[in-house]
Amino acid sequence: MKAMVLEAFNQPPVWRDVPDPTIGPRDVLVRVRAAGLCATDLKIVDGLVPGVSLPHVSGHEAAGEIAEVGSEVAGLATGDHVTLYPTVGCGLCDPCRVGRENLCLNAPRIGFEMDGGFAEYIKAPARNAVKIDSSVPLTQASVLPDAAATCYHALARRARVRAGETVVVVGVGGLGIHAVQLAMTMGARVIAADVEPDKLAAAREFGAETVDASEEPLPAQIDALTRGAKADAVVECVGGSAVTGVLSDAVKCLKPNGRLMVVGYAYGAPLSVDTADLIHGQWDIMGTRASTLQDVVDVVRLVETGRLKPVVSETVAIEGLSEALETLRRRPPVGRTVLTI
Ligand SMILES: [Zn+2]
Ligand SMILES: [Zn+2]
Repeated sequence: MKAMVLEAFNQPPVWRDVPDPTIGPRDVLVRVRAAGLCATDLKIVDGLVPGVSLPHVSGHEAAGEIAEVGSEVAGLATGDHVTLYPTVGCGLCDPCRVGRENLCLNAPRIGFEMDGGFAEYIKAPARNAVKIDSSVPLTQASVLPDAAATCYHALARRARVRAGETVVVVGVGGLGIHAVQLAMTMGARVIAADVEPDKLAAAREFGAETVDASEEPLPAQIDALTRGAKADAVVECVGGSAVTGVLSDAVKCLKPNGRLMVVGYAYGAPLSVDTADLIHGQWDIMGTRASTLQDVVDVVRLVETGRLKPVVSETVAIEGLSEALETLRRRPPVGRTVLTI
């Protein structure tokens, strides 16, 4: 089969022949049809992500059709459409035992320590293959395990957003546009902040109020919209080198007892907060990492029942990966870029 192989860091991956994967009794072989492109894939190419060894095949958002099932696999059949949960939790470590497999101490992850979805075929444990109705396009299905489920984990499991609360989503990119929709389904008043008009327009399409953070400082705008009450939760989905400045503004949007979810990140970028403000506001500042298998199952149900619309901004044939990566580096789109294979 062919795969996009990263042979050296800081070099474009190469579409070339690699050995066909062979599956074990509890695995499935998936014919990949679509794979979402994530800012983390750029960090991998740049050699910044620990645990990635060369040669490497990226792609932690992959969906396709089952081509082969292992002899001990029940509940999945050839031809089923599936999207792949990337973390292969060990089931034994402390975080796994309490249901936090996203923090597994030993887990290899598809597209990181294991070969990912930028390939014609991928082998995965059957447990990681989440069936999705064939009425959902596979391009949309591919982005669910990260772009949607990461936001679902942040909002539902970490922030525990309740109906009637005010949620500010900062950054309406691949993750943010799903965070906006998910917060709406949870009954929150949603205010989306970005600096690009097309991203704000996309957020408004899903029912959010919007603020252009390039016009006036974000905290002042949130104050004005909430008549000084501020936000119950702020979800930061920006990441990259801007993240430190964004987070300083984000905490200033919190009401007393408010929660800040840090979703976007950059290696070496600190979070700084006035400790007096932190204590007086009694804020919860939370990191939130990826998702659990159940989160992916939940977002698949939300999509199948029409309550969440996966946002794919463009599809690119896999051979165009290098250009797609550079476009993502220059200007992240609204929603996800998805590679088709
Ligand atoms: Zn990702
Ligand atoms: Zn574990």
